[in-house]
Amino acid sequence: MRTLVLADTDVGAIADVTLRVTDAALQLGQPVDLLVFDASSATAAARVSGIERVLVASAGAADALAPETIAAQLLALPGEYSTVLAAHRASSRAALPRAAALSEAAFIADVTAIRERTQFVRGLYAGSVLATVTSATALTYASVRPSSFAPVAAEGGAADVVALAPISPFAATRLVERRAAEQSGQDLGTARVVVAGGRGLASQENMARLGRLADMLGAALGASRAAVDAGYAPNAAQVGQTGSNVAPDVYVAFGISGAIQHLAGMKDSKFIVAVNKDPDAPIFSVADVGLVGDLFDVVGAIEAHVQVAEQRP
Ligand SMILES: Cc1cc2nc3c(=O)[nH]c(=O)nc-3n(C[C@H](O)[C@H](O)[C@H](O)COP(=O)(O)OP(=O)(O)OC[C@H]3O[C@@H](n4cnc5c(N)ncnc54)[C@H](O)[C@@H]3O)c2cc1C
Repeated sequence: MRTLVLADTDVGAIADVTLRVTDAALQLGQPVDLLVFDASSATAAARVSGIERVLVASAGAADALAPETIAAQLLALPGEYSTVLAAHRASSRAALPRAAALSEAAFIADVTAIRERTQFVRGLYAGSVLATVTSATALTYASVRPSSFAPVAAEGGAADVVALAPISPFAATRLVERRAAEQSGQDLGTARVVVAGGRGLASQENMARLGRLADMLGAALGASRAAVDAGYAPNAAQVGQTGSNVAPDVYVAFGISGAIQHLAGMKDSKFIVAVNKDPDAPIFSVADVGLVGDLFDVVGAIEAHVQVAEQRP
């Protein structure tokens, strides 16, 4: 049997999240194929390390696909796949359960580790419990948390490219408009450093100042839900159970208390720095370095340090 990865593509390129899902797929120990809906990305897909075949669907423009169309394409594939994986993102979270229901197969959401071919680990209760789930069906659909896996190399592979027979796109809905969400310079999902602000920032202006600091450090700006709800930061910046899951090399939390729902989205970061004036703030329980103090003093000190560094010849 084989494993299929439903690829996220970006104008001819394979998204970093798909390289991470491919790592999860290879851990299943059987041949891995990539399914792309964007023919212009087939060449890049064929170069991804570890891929045997690239299946190219032609169900319509890749960025206008309804989840129903993606599900129909999955159902039209030959029965040689035991596992279909995709990044745990909005469109796959809609398409995969649909395909699973229509084929009476299992769907397992937000997988963070692979135990064996039919056994997956996923978080429950905002990540405070890890459940090991065994699929009892011959075919398993699973969405994978990209930040829990390392990206495979985007180059080095030489997969065969196979064009699939066209299917009719789902016609009951039509994409009217697509707008990029506001975000700082760096992509939150793939940034190596995330600087995040919470309610302690106290205003949109202060959050904008933190955003400028993030830019200076080449980091992405993240935020707690309280900061987003207060209008300090855009929705796209939210980290946590109902926002993005991130696992950067460094996560710096300013004025974030560390509620379980926030920790669920960042506690897998490799090195966590927390700045909070409350010594009992729960964020310190996951921090590698904790600084009890006023965040504005610390932000000011880092700004001064970065400016001095920038002025050095
Ligand atoms: C179903 C559900 C889903 C949720 N999903 C999410 C989610 O995805 N992401 C998320 O973040 N939350 C989520 N929440 C909300 C979560 O429970 C918390 O309410 C939220 O994370 C709190 O944000 P905060 O830490 O910024 O605010 P607070 O808890 O109010 O903490 C602010 C912190 O700032 C510190 N502080 C204040 N001023 C300063 C200063 N000058 N210097 C230093 N420190 C200072 C305070 O000591 C305090 O610890 C969810 C809640 C529910 C019920």
